[in-house]
Amino acid sequence: MENRGKIGVTTENIFPVIKQFLYSDHEIFLRELVANAVDASQKMKALAASGEYAGNVDEIGVRIELDETAKTLKIIDDGIGMTREEVDKYINQIAFSSAGEFLEKYKDQINGIIGHFGLGFYSAFMVSEKVTIETLSWKDGAQAVKWSCDGSPEYTLEDCEKDGRGTVITLYLDKDSDEFASKARILSLLNKYCKFMPVPVIFGKEHEWKDGKDVETDRDNIINKTEPIWAKTPSSLTEEDYQNFYRALYPMDEDPMFHIHLNVDYPFNLTGVLYFPKIKERMSINKNKIQLYCNQMFVTDHVDNIVPDFLTLLHGVIDSPDIPLNVSRSYLQSDANVKKISGYITRKVADRLDDIFKENRQDYESKWDNIKLFIEYGMLSDEKFGERGMKFALLKNTDSKYFSLDEYKTAVEPQQTDKDKKVVCLYATDKDAQYSQIEAAKNMGYDVLLMDCELDSHFINLLEQKMENVRFARVDSDSISNLIPKEDVKKPELSDDEKKEISELIKGAFPEGNDYMVEPQNLGENGAPIVITQSEFMRRYREMSVLGGGMNFYGELPASYNLIVNMENPLIKKIVESKDAASPLLRQVADLALLSNGMLKGKELSDFIARSYDIIK
Ligand code: ADP
Repeated sequence: MENRGKIGVTTENIFPVIKQFLYSDHEIFLRELVANAVDASQKMKALAASGEYAGNVDEIGVRIELDETAKTLKIIDDGIGMTREEVDKYINQIAFSSAGEFLEKYKDQINGIIGHFGLGFYSAFMVSEKVTIETLSWKDGAQAVKWSCDGSPEYTLEDCEKDGRGTVITLYLDKDSDEFASKARILSLLNKYCKFMPVPVIFGKEHEWKDGKDVETDRDNIINKTEPIWAKTPSSLTEEDYQNFYRALYPMDEDPMFHIHLNVDYPFNLTGVLYFPKIKERMSINKNKIQLYCNQMFVTDHVDNIVPDFLTLLHGVIDSPDIPLNVSRSYLQSDANVKKISGYITRKVADRLDDIFKENRQDYESKWDNIKLFIEYGMLSDEKFGERGMKFALLKNTDSKYFSLDEYKTAVEPQQTDKDKKVVCLYATDKDAQYSQIEAAKNMGYDVLLMDCELDSHFINLLEQKMENVRFARVDSDSISNLIPKEDVKKPELSDDEKKEISELIKGAFPEGNDYMVEPQNLGENGAPIVITQSEFMRRYREMSVLGGGMNFYGELPASYNLIVNMENPLIKKIVESKDAASPLLRQVADLALLSNGMLKGKELSDFIARSYDIIK
């Protein structure tokens, strides 16, 4: 019996449309066909498991055969197969009409659509001038049928001979798709898309070295691991299993810091293993390292829009049949399941960090420098993660001691509370450049944090919002006694004219090109004559605008410094009395202030040295 008919498509001829629009992603045809074959095999296994089928299904698998000369590619399975009615229903009607609807619906935004929508069987026509299906259903007494279609909407369906249950799909590759008539190409596609499919996928025979030669053995070459690590239960796995899996995924990378096993089946289905890579700076971060699978079938390594941006810094695998793949990327973001999934992953990552923090503090501290950027980025960009992070974020001081946020506040509170009852956390951004200020602070009994990470200026702002009654100040942002004002300091009593005069005098001794604010203060007889500080506020905004905080106005301002003049210092008294702008004493005092801030350079520095020799001669 032979049927002839017209495939039920709404668009006149769908094939040219498919070829044109999906051009960039032709290679997915193989994934789609292997996935169908895997599906059919799994259904067979399910029938055996439920007792509906009494035969043996242990050897079930999918075979790929390529004839490079004839340019044919076969995908062969011994799954459930199809009856004539099923071919009619699934291939002729549903497949074609749903693709037609699909293209109709998205024709305006077709270019924005990810290439991974499940066109299924149909995608075979992206690379073939003709496709045949020979299939025999598992059902008792079924008759094998052969379906054949040459890329026009017309097909034939006839009875045929076939040994054994299952389906053979044969692609007659068209001349534009020559590239797929290559064993190497097919092998690389199978490795990319089918590496973890749940049923053995076989392509050719294994090779081995014998007598200095590469010879083919008679063992089947199985492409995939049918039980990847993420499909197993965590309790059956060792740390080494996780490390090995990571090495298999990213052979060139350094070992990861730790892993997170994801496993949830309600209200959505998701499994996976994520790894924390070592992150030192933002520049070296390689995103696109998370691979997304759908029932062990590789879909994409572009997971932005599926997980929050900060999580794309992680590596590993996510597998979920509940992430809609046949939609545009912008739609994906608003999908309820995707939102739940990304919320779940964020929570799991926070849980895991919290666990390690609580259970293995030493280990956590040793890894902190490598995960800090990730955690700060997460806390800054994701509110929920930001809240959770307040428990496990660490602060590191200039002596390389680590504290949780609460611990730190408690530790410095007694010494570092100012007159307004705010706990002032002092920090340095560069241990060498701010060495003298760090030492001065330590001599006062204060602690100084090291905040030298590129996100720290943003992070400090976040901490000031989240931690109650806490303020951060960089060690060089004021004179030490003013950083944490304990009581209202008595200001020198000066008239406006006197102030102006001192201001002009002192400013004149400092390099041009910067803004200076002269501030007379009483810092005691032994306090330094002039201290250069930089306003915490202005400096932070300048730094943040350099990082791209959008506040470019501040980035363009000249650097502005405060010149704190200690009116109680005897040298200053002399300078002010003399009113001599050219006095070598003023020059020397100004240069010493610049020097201790690392700001004395070039000619000024060598002049200073020469002058100093003169003085001690
Ligand atoms: P989808 O897989 O998304 O349902 P396809 O176009 O890939 O869409 O396939 C349509 C249907 O054809 C499948 O759902 C399945 O019932 C049937 N089918 C396709 N390939 C096979 C196969 N190798 N063995 C058995 N049935 C198949």
